[in-house]
Amino acid sequence: MTALVLLDHEDGRIRQAALSAVTAAAKLGDVHVLVAGDDAVAQEAAKIAGVSKVLHAADARYAHELAEPLAALIVSLAGGYDHIVAAAGAVGKNVLPRAAALLDVQPIPDVISIVDGDTFVRPIYAGNALATVKSSDTKKVLTVRSSAFDAAATEGGSAPVETVAPVDSPAVSKFEAVHLSESERPELESARVVVSGGRGLQSEEKFHILDPLADKLGAAIGASRAAVDSGFVPNDYQVGQTGKIVAPDLYLAFGISGAIQHLAGMKDSRVIVAVNKDPEAPIFQVADYGIVGDLFEIVPQLTEELK
Ligand code: FAD
Repeated sequence: MTALVLLDHEDGRIRQAALSAVTAAAKLGDVHVLVAGDDAVAQEAAKIAGVSKVLHAADARYAHELAEPLAALIVSLAGGYDHIVAAAGAVGKNVLPRAAALLDVQPIPDVISIVDGDTFVRPIYAGNALATVKSSDTKKVLTVRSSAFDAAATEGGSAPVETVAPVDSPAVSKFEAVHLSESERPELESARVVVSGGRGLQSEEKFHILDPLADKLGAAIGASRAAVDSGFVPNDYQVGQTGKIVAPDLYLAFGISGAIQHLAGMKDSRVIVAVNKDPEAPIFQVADYGIVGDLFEIVPQLTEELK
């Protein structure tokens, strides 16, 4: 069996999550990857351990990973593949359901474990239950959660790069502009340490109390939806059911109550530390270490200790 992985990238770099998708696909058989746009990324993709072929969609229409042209391209390539896989991120979730619809198969999103070529495990009910799904479709189209699969090594492979011909697609969208939030911090979804803040941080200004701590720990910064909705941080910080799913080695939650929708995005973290002034806060039910107290006193103390 051969799987085709849509290898998404940003700023000329392959996303960590896409490397996890390669690891997941390797459990299904031989791995080919599809790189849309960027030539340098296609060359980098050829070095990924375990990849046996790179398909490079070099035509300008693929430069920005737009969903409609990419979905049409995947459909044109699908004949040679049993599985089509992507990371469950913004690109994969945009492109793969469209490709699945065009192929008339049921997409299988957010896979966290691969049982065999037909059978996959995925969370349902905001992560409160795991469904084992057996698909009888001839082609399986799946997105996988990067937190459940290690990233494939970026060195060690030497796959050939083949340019694929563009295909027609409905011109219903066009690229206008991209506005990326710039950060020196690690990507939230693949960071080893995440420092997260909730409504308890009170304001955009006060949220910055977490910065020195995150700097010390080399951590990404996350947030609850309440913190995002209150305008303390941009919405790409959001962790949870409708935000990003993270599973770092260490997750520190400050002023976050632990609503079920937040837990859905972080409860698989290896070690969870919670600081909350309410001893009854549900976050303490999933925390390995908890401090009941005022975060505005505890965060500076923790930061100082780490010096
Ligand atoms: P609150 O629940 O208001 O909690 C604030 C906490 O801070 C309290 O526990 C309080 O004791 C503590 N606190 C206050 N001051 C201090 C202090 N000085 N020191 C220490 N502790 C302090 N939420 C998400 O996070 N992610 C999602 O993806 C998400 N998706 C959702 C999807 C749907 C369909 C719905 C309905 C909701 C979703 N939510 C999501 C919202 C979720 O239900 C909660 O409303 C939200 O998580 C609450 O955020 P919070 O914990 O920051 O705020």
